[in-house]
Amino acid sequence: MNLHEYQGKEILSKYGVKVQRGMIATTAEEAVEAAKKLTEETGTGWHVVKAQVHAGGRGKGGGVKLAKNLDEVKQKASEIIGMQLVTPQTSAEGKTVHQVLIAEDVYYPGESETEEFYVSVLLNRATGKNMIMYSTEGGMDIEEVAESTPEKIFTEEIDPAVGLQGFQARKIAFNLGLSGAAFKDFVKFIDALYKSFVGSDASMFEINPVLKTSDNQIMAVDAKVTLDGNSLFRHPDLAAMRDTREEDPTEVEADAAGLNFVKLDGNVGCMVNGAGLAMATMDIIKLSGGNPANFLDVGGTADAERVEKAFRIILMDENVKAILVNIFGGIVRCDRVAQGILDAYKNMGDAIQVPIIVRLQGTNAEIAKQMIDDSGLKVRSAITLQEAADRVKEVLA
Ligand code: GDP
Ligand code: MN
Repeated sequence: MNLHEYQGKEILSKYGVKVQRGMIATTAEEAVEAAKKLTEETGTGWHVVKAQVHAGGRGKGGGVKLAKNLDEVKQKASEIIGMQLVTPQTSAEGKTVHQVLIAEDVYYPGESETEEFYVSVLLNRATGKNMIMYSTEGGMDIEEVAESTPEKIFTEEIDPAVGLQGFQARKIAFNLGLSGAAFKDFVKFIDALYKSFVGSDASMFEINPVLKTSDNQIMAVDAKVTLDGNSLFRHPDLAAMRDTREEDPTEVEADAAGLNFVKLDGNVGCMVNGAGLAMATMDIIKLSGGNPANFLDVGGTADAERVEKAFRIILMDENVKAILVNIFGGIVRCDRVAQGILDAYKNMGDAIQVPIIVRLQGTNAEIAKQMIDDSGLKVRSAITLQEAADRVKEVLA
């Protein structure tokens, strides 16, 4: 699950990572109020207005703007809120901006120059360890740095059993060229950042840029966070941060219905129970000359309500020319599954315009096939995999 920048910063702040102070706003008026409050508390008077969408590269697309007074805050916020923000990480149509973060400007002049670094914490699946990636080339596209000057990207592996060691934190600070107060502050920063990553069961925390302010403080200016969806049951506070407006609508609906669904780009929808059978089903679709339009595992229960949800989700994809239902009825008997399919089909009326092939195998398979054949509905039945493949071939021909 991905988070917005402001949510990532909330987590960071809780673990003691210094972040730019800021407040969220959904209208230009709220943005001005937020800026006033921030100015009262700190008094620089300059702010950045930052679009909150699940995509990086916002600065390049015009989604991050500096405002030097309240009038500018109002103007920039009204430009950004509601815009379709196109960045190198969005599709061509972009993402609608529903809210902005008003943050205090931290690039103020002072005794030394500001510097931007890149730091991320992620899981290295190959070694089964956590990994900190870092570079002096912060604030830019890290993919570009990796391409043109890979020697400027460093990695530090961390054994999850012992955590980030002091010598590793100091090595990173040293490699980034820090000294004095900034060096000390960075060691604290990286320790707290690593703790945020572990404590929130994240799969990635990317901070680009990490800023060394002109008075030698180290803080997170941006935060791109991905949490491990499988761990969210342990973190109700983090689970509540989900913003479904940012996600694929089909997958959101499938998730709400408790269906395991992945969209693919073929023409035959499939509804299956069990991941193994789902894979085998995708194979027989291929062998019959079609291409799977999705992976959908309905799980243990295949009652009318669930089957109907699954049909509706599959049919949201207009490329679907046929649906293959392939369910093994063990404890859930095939006749009950067949009843579920027939009830769902009747309920949906005209919503189903494509042929449906149903292959039920297991307890009472013969009875189930008879029920489907007798129903008078445009549902073709099959018992063996070969029959199912032949039916798919027929309807695609
Ligand atoms: P991204 O483009 O989506 O990665 O968004 P960032 O949060 O990284 O912001 C983009 C750029 O805006 C940063 O690299 C900074 O150079 C600039 N920026 C961010 N915050 C501030 C700020 O407080 N003051 C100024 N002057 N620039 C900022
Ligand atoms: Mn950034």
